[in-house]
Amino acid sequence: MELTSSVQYLKGIGEAKARALARLGVRDAEGLLNFFPRAYEDRSRFSTIARLTEGESVSVRAMIVTEPEFSFVRRGMELLRFRISDSTGTMLVTYFNQSWLRRRLRRGESYTFFGRVQLVGRTFAFTNPAFDPEGEEGRQTGRILPVYRLTSGIGQRDISAAVRQALDGCGMAVTDGVPEAVAASRSLCTTRYAYENIHFPADARALALARGRLVFAELFTLVCAMGLLRGERGDKPGLRFAPADFGEFMRSLPFAPTSAQLRAVEECAADMASGRAMNRLIQGDVGSGKTLCAAALIWYAAKNGCQSAFMAPTELLCEQHFATLSGFLEPFGIRTVKLTGSMGAKAKRETLTALASGEAQLAVGTHALISEGVEFARLGLVVTDEQHRFGVAQRGALADKGERAHVLVMSATPIPRTLALIIYGDLDVSVIDELPPGRQRVDTFAVTTRYRQRLNAFIERLAGEGRQTFVVCPAIEADAESPAGLVSAEEHARELARALPRLRVECVHGRMKAKERDAVMARFVSGEADVLVSTTVIEVGVDVPNAALMIVENAERFGLSQLHQLRGRVGRGSHKSWCVLVSDAANEDSRSRLAVMTRTYNGFEIAEEDLRLRGPGDFFGARQHGLPELHIADLGADMDVLAAARDSAAEVLAADPELKKPENLPARTAAEKLLSATHNRLS
Ligand code: ADP
Ligand code: MG
Repeated sequence: MELTSSVQYLKGIGEAKARALARLGVRDAEGLLNFFPRAYEDRSRFSTIARLTEGESVSVRAMIVTEPEFSFVRRGMELLRFRISDSTGTMLVTYFNQSWLRRRLRRGESYTFFGRVQLVGRTFAFTNPAFDPEGEEGRQTGRILPVYRLTSGIGQRDISAAVRQALDGCGMAVTDGVPEAVAASRSLCTTRYAYENIHFPADARALALARGRLVFAELFTLVCAMGLLRGERGDKPGLRFAPADFGEFMRSLPFAPTSAQLRAVEECAADMASGRAMNRLIQGDVGSGKTLCAAALIWYAAKNGCQSAFMAPTELLCEQHFATLSGFLEPFGIRTVKLTGSMGAKAKRETLTALASGEAQLAVGTHALISEGVEFARLGLVVTDEQHRFGVAQRGALADKGERAHVLVMSATPIPRTLALIIYGDLDVSVIDELPPGRQRVDTFAVTTRYRQRLNAFIERLAGEGRQTFVVCPAIEADAESPAGLVSAEEHARELARALPRLRVECVHGRMKAKERDAVMARFVSGEADVLVSTTVIEVGVDVPNAALMIVENAERFGLSQLHQLRGRVGRGSHKSWCVLVSDAANEDSRSRLAVMTRTYNGFEIAEEDLRLRGPGDFFGARQHGLPELHIADLGADMDVLAAARDSAAEVLAADPELKKPENLPARTAAEKLLSATHNRLS
């Protein structure tokens, strides 16, 4: 058997099961070996009957001491019952609807049973326990059992049996990309041991060792992949821009840029004048003024005869950036066009023509910008906003529309340092660590729904002063499946309109047509509405300086970083602003999470806390981060392994940047595989 042998030819796997495995992403022996269990059930612990405690899951060696008694309770319900004993006591075993077991379970013989201990009257009992006959334990009982992700048409035992064959057939050939020397310096177990014990753990310690190697390998490969990308880009020649006096642009602004903004712009400008392609991230908290930096660099590109593309994750944001950027740039004769998915064919055609001919110098758009058919006459700068929503691959795809184009990424999500390495591992970083002067701290409170009336009165009072209120709800509309107490945007908007008849209440959410949504948004921005009830469509970027109150309903359902982003929607003008987090969640976790929000205003601190409390999956929102999919590493729990993997990879890459030495070839192969898998998943 070879690593590339199709699973279809394994014993017990026919065409149908091979199709089921394919649905799980497993096609060949190597795929099978890398199909790691999603969990384990520890059946390795044994107990005597006398020492059982109710509720524990445990293996028990005992003899069947009563004749298994079979009965029909009613149609479709059969029972098989008997007692088992060891030298310490007796317990009851019941099977439902498994009459065929009558032939396998005999009085007077010994077995190992595994199950959850119940108490029936004063007797311990198992219901439907797994069992092995004496001398055969280690199949279903008495060991740590892998639990695989399943799909219809294939079961746990099928997968275990297939993995067993693959391990025996080609387990010696499988590699994980970690060079020998690295494995030795990190005291990792061998690959063979790791693959054996991740699927068939001999015991808890063996499993930990196996997992230790495979997690390390996965993160090591990830860091290598980022290193290769960075190397490729680093080598890539870029358009060499002539130096310019940014003062000319800055003087046109209605305000003076902060020194942090200037520094970020200068760092970018230095990249763009270097002759190498820029690959830089500007990271700055909400409201730190990243858009202005982008505008300055777009101006710089235009001065050098180049076009720019600015990509934002939602249509709403595109609208706003379009307005802001054209406002900054049109005075310099920079023509700005828009490209979004919902635009009419005619408008789209005009945009495309203007870009291809070079008539327009700036395109602001959604990911429609990366679609085929979008051509630029001379693309020199690509900016992506709120980048964690775009993947590495998408960033690259847009940059490839220009020859030697510079890439600038902007993110308002402060990323904990450890994660920044993976997500932005291929980028240089500039940090804007200063807010424009005059910003007010947004006073934040956590309240329960009992404050509803007072809160409404507050909205009304603010409206009387000419201020506006955002209300964010976790759901669009109430439906039968939503949990009780979940506030939906549409319903809540109706309620607020009833409670505040003198105010103009509007509602906006992601399921509305872009046109409608933009119309509502535009009315709010221009002050024609007092209250805007929405889902998180307004989470990122939208700018309404007149808004002074942010209310978040069911606040416990949001991540801290998300709440921080939402809070950043107010306090952008000169008005005193507030953020009120409404939640009836009583549990300790939710309360302490919301307390973090009332205590700190530092995005980085909140991000660290968020990561600690929820883990990275939730932190970024499902699949929004564009990270390669991790099969075994858990970025929340495996931070220390990540640090080790990063250090080892850095050492290897320093000595062999392209991983071309024979001992590093497996690492290169693994890294390339990871990158192409990521690319396929995102495109
Ligand atoms: P973010 O970094 O969150 O994208 P924006 O670029 O949207 O922030 O800027 C937030 C607000 O701050 C905008 O209204 C912008 O006009 C304003 N702003 C940006 N830079 C400055 C500055 N140096 N002084 C005063 N206001 C500024
Ligand atoms: Mg922004």
